[in-house]
Amino acid sequence: MPDASPPDPRTLTPEFAFARAWHDRLGLVRGDDDWATGLWKQNEPCVVVTDGRHVVLDGEHLELLPPSQAPPGDRAVLGEGDGGPTYLAVLVDEVPEQSGRVSTREAAAALDPLGGSLMAHAAGLANWHRTHPRCARCGAETVAADAGHVRRCPVCQASHFPRTDPAVIMLVIDSVDRALLGRQRVWPAGRFSTLAGFVEPGEALEDAVRREVAEEVGITISTVSYGASQAWPFPSSLMVGFFAVAEGTDIDVDGVEIAEARWVTREQLTALAAGGSVRLPGRLSISRWLIETWYGGEVPGNW
Ligand SMILES: [Zn+2]
Repeated sequence: MPDASPPDPRTLTPEFAFARAWHDRLGLVRGDDDWATGLWKQNEPCVVVTDGRHVVLDGEHLELLPPSQAPPGDRAVLGEGDGGPTYLAVLVDEVPEQSGRVSTREAAAALDPLGGSLMAHAAGLANWHRTHPRCARCGAETVAADAGHVRRCPVCQASHFPRTDPAVIMLVIDSVDRALLGRQRVWPAGRFSTLAGFVEPGEALEDAVRREVAEEVGITISTVSYGASQAWPFPSSLMVGFFAVAEGTDIDVDGVEIAEARWVTREQLTALAAGGSVRLPGRLSISRWLIETWYGGEVPGNW
């Protein structure tokens, strides 16, 4: 019986949205308020405006405003990207309806890598600021600090940091190198992807992979191998991608999150995808990348 061998992450090149940051976040200097204030005197267009759910596009690029034209809102320093200006963000309650306004998900599919990197950073900050206006310890209103990367409580002096919610996303393969695809109960027939789930408190990533696979499809996992990760600021996730080797092949779907799961060989997937009876996520997502990394090339069609 051949051994399933997950791809070696050292040989992989992640190619999907938010696979890596394309800007230097300047984390060592952003606690300097004078420095941060001075950046708002730049004349060049360098300000991203977002409410965390929308941005404004100019073609396939983020629309950037000179600081003098930026609207009021919480201010953040994003960093340096391409030898140009230091990029900044204004975090507003709502981006006004206007030409070029799109959802952050739509923008993720359209943007150049630097633009996507800046948007993921800015939108993640905006989502956090909007939903964390008060101190989690004493309830007082907090104020933004450290160039938008901390909220401080003026009453109890607590510092609050932006949260990121880790989720594991995994392609399960069996001992004869078939892949397991699942369909969530809320998805239409034919829409399939990898399995995924949130990491729980006190849980290692590998254990989260094993638990989620066991819960969703009743399969025991032996080896768990890291593949790549993807920032997913909708609103605040980090998708950590793995290949997981199954010990058995009997599927027992939970019927709650997963309605249907099936093993496929590469040949079967080729035929199912070409015929449209299996549709995979778009190339924006790490799930597509996990599947195509196993498959060894591009699979036709998408959601
Ligand atoms: Zn407080």
